Amino acid sequence: MQAHASQGTTLHAALTAAVKLLQQSATDSARLDAEILLAWVLNKQRVYLHTWPEHILTTEQELAYRRLIIKRQQGVPIAYLTGQREFWSLSLTVNPDTLIPRPDTETLVEIALNKLHDKPGQRICDLGTGSGAIALALASERPDCEVLGTDISTASLQVAEQNALHLGLRNIRFLHSDWFEALATHRFELIVSNPPYIAEQDPHLSEGDVAHEPRHALSAGPQGMDDLQAIGGQALSFLTPSGWLLMEHGYQQAETTCNLLMEKGYCNIRTWQDAAGLQRVSGGQRHSDPADE
Ligand code: GLN
Repeated sequence: MQAHASQGTTLHAALTAAVKLLQQSATDSARLDAEILLAWVLNKQRVYLHTWPEHILTTEQELAYRRLIIKRQQGVPIAYLTGQREFWSLSLTVNPDTLIPRPDTETLVEIALNKLHDKPGQRICDLGTGSGAIALALASERPDCEVLGTDISTASLQVAEQNALHLGLRNIRFLHSDWFEALATHRFELIVSNPPYIAEQDPHLSEGDVAHEPRHALSAGPQGMDDLQAIGGQALSFLTPSGWLLMEHGYQQAETTCNLLMEKGYCNIRTWQDAAGLQRVSGGQRHSDPADE
């Protein structure tokens, strides 16, 4: 990001300098990060940087870029710097009040869509919705269904609301709730959740992007099972007969999750793998006749 005398800094020069700085701070995606951030400052696609390498940055752009690169050097995730993350082909606003949606979680969306019937009017609940990613993906795929996203964090609910508004989705609402607390009279054909499930002593919590994400959205008790247990334990009373509960979990938590669903009396319990082949989602169905439970 060196000034070329009076002519100013070219995109090429700014990029080269930024890549060098990011490489020093051991970012494993230095070039990609530098390009994403420069494109974001210019409000252009990344291809623009390679098409117009001799384009000169304005002073404001150069300063803005410099500030972003410094924050990235400090480890701030790209998604928090640009305030954007793509999930299920939807461009979502994210901020440090919300978890950054992961591609792994698209597995949960896919399974959820398969569990919905053809008939309209089905009610879906996404517990701990964060930026609204899962709820918004489902609402966009099934405009004939009603989606409710809940979260304990009012700050993340604001982000989710903003995303729904921006995407123009009308079949989605959000509610402040500690898991099922505010849902007394609600019943759903489908309940989904990507709750916190990392063990509280897991060293990953202080590494990389994860270190900058809200801890309450990531870790849940000594084994990471506390919230999976709380949701699995209560969901039956909020499901309609034959309704499904689907929960994302850590790759080593499938067995414990399935056991707890079995103890609670769900049927058709099973686990699904994510794109990386890891056990990522488990779920079960409420009996079609509640007398069987
Ligand atoms: N899958 C995320 C991770 O490993 C955690 C998300 C969660 O806890 N729900 O970083």
